[in-house]
Amino acid sequence: MLQGIAASAGIGLGRVMLLEEQSLTYPTAPPADIQAELGRFQAAVGVFRQNTQAQAELLRHSAGHKEAQILSAHVQMVEDPYFTGEVEKHIQEGKRAEAALDQVCQWFTAMFLASGDDLTQQRAADVRDVRTGLLCVLLGLEEVEVSQAPKGTVLVAKEISPSVAAGINPKNIVGIVTEIGGMTSHSAILARALQVPAVLGLPGATGLLKASSFVIVDGSTGEVVPEPQADVVQDYRKRRQAFLRRRWQLNRLRGKPTQAASGERFHLYCNISKPQDAEKALEEDGEGVGLFRTEYLFMDRDRLPGEEEQFRAYRKAAQALEGRTLTIRTLDLGGDKAVPYLDLPREDNPFLGTRGIRYCLEHPDIFSTQLRAVLRASAYGKLRLLFPMICTLEELWAGRAFLEKAKVELTAQGLAFDARIPVGIMVETPSAAAIADLLARDADFFSIGTNDLTGYIMACDRGNPQVSGLFSSLQPAVLRCIRQVIQCAQGHGIQVGMCGEAAANPMIIPLLMAFGLTEFSVAAASVLSVRKAISQWTMEGARQVAEEVMSMPTEEDIVRFLRAHGPAAAGGRDKAARIRLPQV
Ligand code: PEP
Ligand code: MG
Repeated sequence: MLQGIAASAGIGLGRVMLLEEQSLTYPTAPPADIQAELGRFQAAVGVFRQNTQAQAELLRHSAGHKEAQILSAHVQMVEDPYFTGEVEKHIQEGKRAEAALDQVCQWFTAMFLASGDDLTQQRAADVRDVRTGLLCVLLGLEEVEVSQAPKGTVLVAKEISPSVAAGINPKNIVGIVTEIGGMTSHSAILARALQVPAVLGLPGATGLLKASSFVIVDGSTGEVVPEPQADVVQDYRKRRQAFLRRRWQLNRLRGKPTQAASGERFHLYCNISKPQDAEKALEEDGEGVGLFRTEYLFMDRDRLPGEEEQFRAYRKAAQALEGRTLTIRTLDLGGDKAVPYLDLPREDNPFLGTRGIRYCLEHPDIFSTQLRAVLRASAYGKLRLLFPMICTLEELWAGRAFLEKAKVELTAQGLAFDARIPVGIMVETPSAAAIADLLARDADFFSIGTNDLTGYIMACDRGNPQVSGLFSSLQPAVLRCIRQVIQCAQGHGIQVGMCGEAAANPMIIPLLMAFGLTEFSVAAASVLSVRKAISQWTMEGARQVAEEVMSMPTEEDIVRFLRAHGPAAAGGRDKAARIRLPQV
């Protein structure tokens, strides 16, 4: 079994078609006739433009408008007079068209990579694709054609360019395996849009998988099984059937509003930890972002991200969401989220120590830098600000005071921001829950963090298997607390959502609906299943269930009752929250 990156969910069983890399070498001797060489380049640009426009059209039908834009961007690049002008300048200086193109592409790639901005860096991949496409035309090479691949083909390549992907017929191509590429690469985006299972970033795949051999691709786990035994094939066929059945049911909810069977509407947002996840949230039909865990911008590096870097990251997420809600949570360090270069003091009980807002209030520079960056990004979308680990009113006031100070500074500098950016708090500590009525007066919204709230109420570490039996948001103590928080929010007319893992648990969903929760924020992969769970309840049905459940004395009774009575009878306790979240 081989392991790569699970980039597009689903299981494909088929025969390998190896896509050989084209040799793009060319003679280096200068051209004899400069005018003729210029004409050759311009003709190649014309052919490339025409082919790519046609491929974009194909992709628009097979994958969608957004995906087709990847190729439209290539057309725009060759239509840019600066780009073609630079190549022509080099040709006029005596270079062959291929060499001139190479030089300019190298220069553009280096410039984009040096930008330090994710979005601009991704343009380097576009330059690489344009270079390959134009060189193929200049050298008279046919671009790899996959549209004629027979039924049951698994494409195996070093990398799949968008122009090759445009030829993919998902009826025939049952899987994709590449050596290069990750979750957010163009190949991954296209594979997901075409709903073809894909495992990317599998080093040596083109050598390890033999042409025409039988292979299984599991795009949900990232596993690739070369030449499997009959019983393994049998097993994967069953899994594939189950996956397709479920996907078919969920796909019917794509693009539909999130509403109860009786018509009441809810917001269904996603939790993200990187700006590029915002696109994934939309791909999975999320309606916005209910929680951006910004601490991940501070991890896996050796120094703090500055205001400019943070501003670009938040702006990128805001722009990707095109006016939909983006909830940015300020730095939530401490607990199990460590940042080695910050030298956090060693604490005996880090979950009860300098966590979340406590750390920020003790480090005004770090906090103010982040607030300024968020405020500046608020000029580019519909942003909300969220403070983590609030326990007291004073902490909320202090957080707000820092925000006001940042606003004054930005105004003095003439920088734009949304002066009315809503400020909410995570309700994830028992103290915040107990004074929710007081906090609701000064917060614009609540987001209930059941991962921590459950742990703190039940006095059990969410990552400790010894006490995992106690870690359940269906414990009467936790349910009472959640209901109370929602009632306080309603009483003060503020929005109340949930961004802990419990929000994606079909068992608890009718209870949350009945309590009056208006927003669910979940992992992108859970969007459709949560929409489905919500759609299966009328508010009246949900209220009846909640009434029964809230009179039950133990979690065991509650779980048994919900298993027996819910239309979404499957599922269990919110297991994901019991383990520590991955450090991305
Ligand atoms: C929570 O505690 O429920 C939450 C969403 O925050 P995190 O998991 O990042 O601690
Ligand atoms: Mg938390």
